[in-house]
Amino acid sequence: MIPAPDLEAHAYQVPLRTRFRGIDVRDGVLVRGPAGWGEFSPFWDYGVAESRRWWAAAREAAVEGWPAPLRSVVPVNVTVPAVDAERAHAIVAASGCRTAKVKVAEPGQSPADDLGRVEAVRDALGPDGAVRVDANAAWDVGTAAARIAELDRVAALEYVEQPCASLAELAALRRRIGVRIAVDEGVRRAGDPLRVDLREAADVVVLKVQPLGGVRAALRVAEAHGLPCVVSSALESSVGIAAGVALAAALPELPFACGLATVALFDDDVTSAPLLPVDGALPVVRPEPDRLDAVAADAATAARWAARLASVRTAVPAA
Ligand SMILES: [Mg+2]
Repeated sequence: MIPAPDLEAHAYQVPLRTRFRGIDVRDGVLVRGPAGWGEFSPFWDYGVAESRRWWAAAREAAVEGWPAPLRSVVPVNVTVPAVDAERAHAIVAASGCRTAKVKVAEPGQSPADDLGRVEAVRDALGPDGAVRVDANAAWDVGTAAARIAELDRVAALEYVEQPCASLAELAALRRRIGVRIAVDEGVRRAGDPLRVDLREAADVVVLKVQPLGGVRAALRVAEAHGLPCVVSSALESSVGIAAGVALAAALPELPFACGLATVALFDDDVTSAPLLPVDGALPVVRPEPDRLDAVAADAATAARWAARLASVRTAVPAA
């Protein structure tokens, strides 16, 4: 247990089934307060300033709780890492989801790898399923236009997530293609996610609870932009995923399946009742982390998290 002045905190670490976002093990801290459990798990490439929003999300979950849900289940998509076509087909077929988000433009892979993976996903879903791709800002405008046209031809894309890095590039691309563009990094890594101007650049906004500073903060982002929103995870344990489900359940409109089925990428979880989809949906629940001992972080990792927790907790500027 990590000592924390007012909140009980436990560091966890869980292996991933497939390398994702450049990591093989996911780790973080669960904190318990009067309102329940929260998760603080900024990736290790995030500095103190950016991690403060992640801490605000954990505190909200533990101290305040979340706004009342408007729905009791949330439709979700299966997330397909940059695996080969055969594996992609199997992941989608086993998921029970009717929407798939496919990672593309992975460093070291070719356009043919993406095409094969996306084609296999379309085949696994059949014509009625929805296929979206996420390029994580990897393409320039010309490359994006060409790749999206190829992928759209084989799979009729629902939307493409963050194909280029900057909002100016997204706006230029959006004038050239017919496929909807969703913005993810362009909002969540912005200095002020409320003020960033998305009008020319995006058709859909991706909301993530921890990077935006909590469920209420993410609801304010949704309101500020007035665009259709989709909620995605930051690859949390079931405790963090529950915050994403709470956000999705509280949004006035929810036109797209959410990227919250990512516990399927974990080899283990903090709870014996993991938030995995049944018939393509997740229930609005707060999981009890009853496996904290089984997935406890090793001493060195726990010490790193204790230091990180101390740094975000002291970095809050005076109001
Ligand atoms: Mg994304």
